[in-house]
Amino acid sequence: MIELIIIFILGSIIGSFLNVCIYRLPQKISLVFPSSFCPSCKEKIPTWSNIPIIGFFMVKGKCRACSSKISKRYPFVEILSGILTVVSFMHFGLGVSFFIYSLFIYFLIVIAFIDLKTHLIYNKVLFTLLAAGISTQLFSPFITWEEGLLGFVAGGLSMFLISLLGKVLFKKESLGMGDVKLAAVAGFFTGWVNVLVALYLGFVLAFVTIIIYNKFQKTQIRNDHIPLGPFLALGLILFLFWGDQILQFYLSIVL
Ligand SMILES: [Zn+2]
Repeated sequence: MIELIIIFILGSIIGSFLNVCIYRLPQKISLVFPSSFCPSCKEKIPTWSNIPIIGFFMVKGKCRACSSKISKRYPFVEILSGILTVVSFMHFGLGVSFFIYSLFIYFLIVIAFIDLKTHLIYNKVLFTLLAAGISTQLFSPFITWEEGLLGFVAGGLSMFLISLLGKVLFKKESLGMGDVKLAAVAGFFTGWVNVLVALYLGFVLAFVTIIIYNKFQKTQIRNDHIPLGPFLALGLILFLFWGDQILQFYLSIVL
């Protein structure tokens, strides 16, 4: 139990760095300099209130200098990152898979939240993730090369074909090249079967969300206006840990 708590804390500390990435990457601010500051008044944030999760509640979700609200995204990402690190540890045990797939998840969190905010998936982030995957694979393989390369091609190609289909159906760009590249890079980590099913799951989640959202909101969102990245990320993470259960559930409905 104590090891799970330590892993949760480590995960939430990493989560607080992911928050920095989510905020700074789109604004092209360095990830290390300057140290944390309030987005509204630019006042430096004292180290103690930077403590993951607890810090947010200690300052009651407000900047101490200008009392502007701090986004709930901060504690959310920290808690999410803590929980997923624990799940990853329980799933893989201590080893290279735990290391590389936790890293994969951290990147997916950053990609999802930046996409949610800016509708962009940054090449820089994707290439760094791919480079981390390839260099880990060289020294301590976590997947066979065939599986990884096949996954890369299958993920990228299927998403590219879907984007072509979307172009024909909606008569305009409905899927960005960012989604195509994300699918390819993710495929390298998961292999081809997993990436295809995870992407399918992501699409299902996106469509269900649009339907529910449109039912309850006055302003309708159209299919071509939602960022797909967060759903793909969610599909990939769900399938990484609960793929077998999801497949069994799905087959039990279909068959
Ligand atoms: Zn402030």
